[in-house]
Amino acid sequence: PRSLRIGLIPGDGIGREVIPAGRRVLEAVSTSFNLKFSFVDLPAGYETFQQTGVALPDRTVETLQKECDGALFGAVSSPTKKVAGYSSPIVALRKKLDLYANIRPVKTTFSSKNPIDLVIVRENTEDLYVKEERTFSAPDGSGKIAEAIKRISERASHRIATMAGTIALQRQQLRESGIQSIHTKPTVTITHKSNVLSQTDGLFRETSRTALSQPQFSSITIDEQIVDSMVYKLFRQPSTYDVIVAPNLYGDILSDGAAALVGSLGLVPSANVGDGFAIGEPCHGSAPDIMGKGIANPIATIRSVGVMLEFLGEAKAAGRIYEAVDGNLEEGRLLTPDVGGSAGTEEVVEDILKRL
Ligand code: NAD
Ligand code: MN
Repeated sequence: PRSLRIGLIPGDGIGREVIPAGRRVLEAVSTSFNLKFSFVDLPAGYETFQQTGVALPDRTVETLQKECDGALFGAVSSPTKKVAGYSSPIVALRKKLDLYANIRPVKTTFSSKNPIDLVIVRENTEDLYVKEERTFSAPDGSGKIAEAIKRISERASHRIATMAGTIALQRQQLRESGIQSIHTKPTVTITHKSNVLSQTDGLFRETSRTALSQPQFSSITIDEQIVDSMVYKLFRQPSTYDVIVAPNLYGDILSDGAAALVGSLGLVPSANVGDGFAIGEPCHGSAPDIMGKGIANPIATIRSVGVMLEFLGEAKAAGRIYEAVDGNLEEGRLLTPDVGGSAGTEEVVEDILKRL
C-alpha cells in the first residue's frame, strides 16, 4: 500500500470535535484504496498561543514540511480585540508552505431545487492582499487619502489557471467514473473586472486564457465573466458554474457568497494547496456557541478530507467519500441541527462511515 502521513491540526473550539471525524474517515477508506495512513497531532491556534506565546509553533511547520504528505486543519479562534504577538496560524501556514491556491467546492444535493456543483479556485498570494498600503494627506488639504497596491503577476495567474484546468479535468474524470453531477462537460470561468482594471485584471484574464489553452486542456470550455455580473448569476443560476478561477479578492468574496447558497457553513469544505502539499480545512470557524455540545456538523471536515485526497492523487478515494456524504444528506435522516436535523456529530459520522 501507499503510505501517507497526515498532520492533524485541530486548533480551537469545534475544530477538536470535527478533526477526529476526518481521521476516522481516512482510516475507513484506507484498505479499499490500498492506502496506509499514519497521523501526527500538531498544535496551533489561540489556546496554543495563550499557553506558549506562539499561535503556530515552529515544530508544527517543520513536522509538516519534513514528515507529512498532507494535513487537516480544524479551525482557530481569533481574539475579538487585537492581541500583541497573535496572528492567524493558517495565514502563516499558507505562506510558509507556499500554498498558493485556495480551493472551495460548493455543492448541494441533487434533489435540491436550485442545484449547485461548483468549485472556486482562488489565487492566494497576491492581488490586494500583498498588504502594501499607505496613507498620506491630500495635497489640497481636504483630509487623508489611503491607497493600496493591487499586484497581479503572470506567474501566479498562470499557475492558478493551470490548477483550475487540472481540477476541471479531474472532476470530469470523476463524473466519467460514475460520480453523479449536474454537469456533463468541463468548463472553467475566468473572473475579472478588466473592463475597468485593464492592466491588472487584464493580465489575469489574458494569462488565464493562455494557461487554459494548453493542449492538455483542449476538452475544457473556457468562459469568462465580469465579477459583479458573476455575483448576480451565481445567486440566480448557480447551476451554470463548474470551475471558477479568480484573483485573490474576488475569490475571497465569491467563496463566502457561494457558501451561503448551501445553507450551512457546516457543509462547506476547502483546501489550501501548493505544489506537492495540501491542507484540508472546513470553511467554518471554531463556533464557540456550539462547542462542547456534540452537535457540530462534521461534513465540512469530511468533505475537506476528500479535497485533500484529490490533491494527493487519490481522487477515487475522494469520490467514495463524496458519495457517502451525499448519501447521508439525500436520505436526510441523520443530520445535525444546523441543517435541520436533531442528530449529534457522532451519529452523522457513524452513518457516513457505514456508507463508505
Ligand atoms: P463560525 O464559523 O465559527 O460560526 C458561525 C455560525 O455557524 C455559528 O452560529 C456556528 O455555530 C455555526 N457553525 C459553524 N460551523 C458549524 C458546524 N460545523 N456545525 C454547525 N454549526 C456551525 O464563525 P464566527 O462565529 O464568526 O467565528 C467564531 C470564531 O472562529 C472566531 O474566533 C473567528 O475568528 C474564528 N474563525 C476562524 C476561521 C478559521 O479558522 N478558518 C474561520 C472563521 C472564523
Ligand atoms: Mn474570506
